[in-house]
Amino acid sequence: MSDVAALTSDSHAVVVGGGLAGLRGAEAMRDAGFEGRLTIVGNEPHRPYDRPPLSKHVLTGLLPPDVTRLPSDLDGDVEWRLGVGAASLDRGARTLRLTDGTTLRYDALLIATGTRARPWIHPEEERLPGVFSIRSRDDAASLRAALVARPKRVVVIGAGFIGCEVAAVCRELDLPVCLIDPSPSPLGRVIGSAVGGLIGAVHEGWGVEMRLGAEVAHLEAKGGRFVGVRLKDGGRIEAQVAVVALGAVRNTEWLDGSGLSADSGGIDCDERGFVTDAFGQPDPRIAAAGDVARFPHPLYGGRRIALEHWGHAVAQARHAGRLLAGDASGPVYGAVPNFWSTQGDMVVKSVGLTEGADAVAIVQGDPAERRFVALYGRAGRCVAAVSVDSARWLPAYGHLIETAAPFPPAEAVTDRPSRKIDILDPGFA
Ligand SMILES: Cc1cc2nc3c(=O)[nH]c(=O)nc-3n(C[C@H](O)[C@H](O)[C@H](O)COP(=O)(O)OP(=O)(O)OC[C@H]3O[C@@H](n4cnc5c(N)ncnc54)[C@H](O)[C@@H]3O)c2cc1C
Repeated sequence: MSDVAALTSDSHAVVVGGGLAGLRGAEAMRDAGFEGRLTIVGNEPHRPYDRPPLSKHVLTGLLPPDVTRLPSDLDGDVEWRLGVGAASLDRGARTLRLTDGTTLRYDALLIATGTRARPWIHPEEERLPGVFSIRSRDDAASLRAALVARPKRVVVIGAGFIGCEVAAVCRELDLPVCLIDPSPSPLGRVIGSAVGGLIGAVHEGWGVEMRLGAEVAHLEAKGGRFVGVRLKDGGRIEAQVAVVALGAVRNTEWLDGSGLSADSGGIDCDERGFVTDAFGQPDPRIAAAGDVARFPHPLYGGRRIALEHWGHAVAQARHAGRLLAGDASGPVYGAVPNFWSTQGDMVVKSVGLTEGADAVAIVQGDPAERRFVALYGRAGRCVAAVSVDSARWLPAYGHLIETAAPFPPAEAVTDRPSRKIDILDPGFA
């Protein structure tokens, strides 16, 4: 199976996953001229909506959850199968079995099933009233209602991007909040403790209580409700609301038995975007995009990576949609990863991948002024940059990363060229 399947106006294209990547992929098929039947299968009851506001403006109350619907010119042009999921895939018969027992035959299939919130380790504790996670619009609406009830304290378990955003919202709402993470700083696993510590200091300035180097053992209940957390060191923190923010798990279980190469780290794709089977052979009728896709990134020597970034979901879905519609003329997909996070009035942005970085330097601005850019190096090359309230400088660093420029950069890129740049250990645990 190596040739791209040609779709005609009699063909049926199916998208599994009614999120950002599913929607943008379906649009791209139409833009590429596909005129046949197009079905989007989504297991949530809602039309595709935007997730970034869920942990920000929806929680502060600035936006109601239902205004997050994504704009699209697809409408009557698509058959929507909402509130029903794909349960299994038979590639030989080219059919999908859905959770309502029906089957769908496809000529082309886009897999865009994204991720779900990583569950708390003890399922019975996670079900307690007062315990929340945040992935869907409905999750955000429930957490917002709990915050409006003004709990005496909120605990956020996990200081990644979403945990930090939720902690910042709590302080905006003037709610006491405690952020708990085993790392020595917030965002330690993603951007390292050297830069994570600078961001942590901003949170502390807002009044976020930090319990770093600490791990939660249990969520405690009284009268059937969540009342606090027990730490592994025996300590206890009383709270009425817990937000579990432990990252995400990819939605690939429904592909078990399909013969495709997929696991909790994503579904594998080749360099064009077609999914591959257990022997590495591409299936030219199926592509994947967005959070669920694991693909060889040309910028990282073809290493397979899966990204959970909004901009990536859009760009890769457009690429996959065109590919399935028969337009394989474009370049191999390999955009520089980029991400943003709004925490209170602070905007953190990143380009590239910090993974494996062995050095970092503040190359622009000043952390004391809460405006800076940190540039990360790996084996003497620029691999990533993180900005705090200085995003306008990032494209220049994106270029250094894209071209694997030497680290530290040969030419001064700082706003104060005479300043000596200190090379620091990024502090990845
Ligand atoms: C709270 C939150 C805040 C975020 N903030 C930012 C941010 O500030 N910046 C940023 O760059 N990124 C952010 N992201 C990440 C960004 O939203 C994701 O990268 C993006 O949503 C990925 O889109 P997707 O379509 O691949 O996956 P999803 O948005 O997860 O959509 C996948 C859809 O498929 C459905 N599905 C799953 N399994 C099946 C099945 N078997 N059958 C049918 N349907 C199925 C899911 O229910 C879901 O509706 C945030 C994410 C969250 C959750």
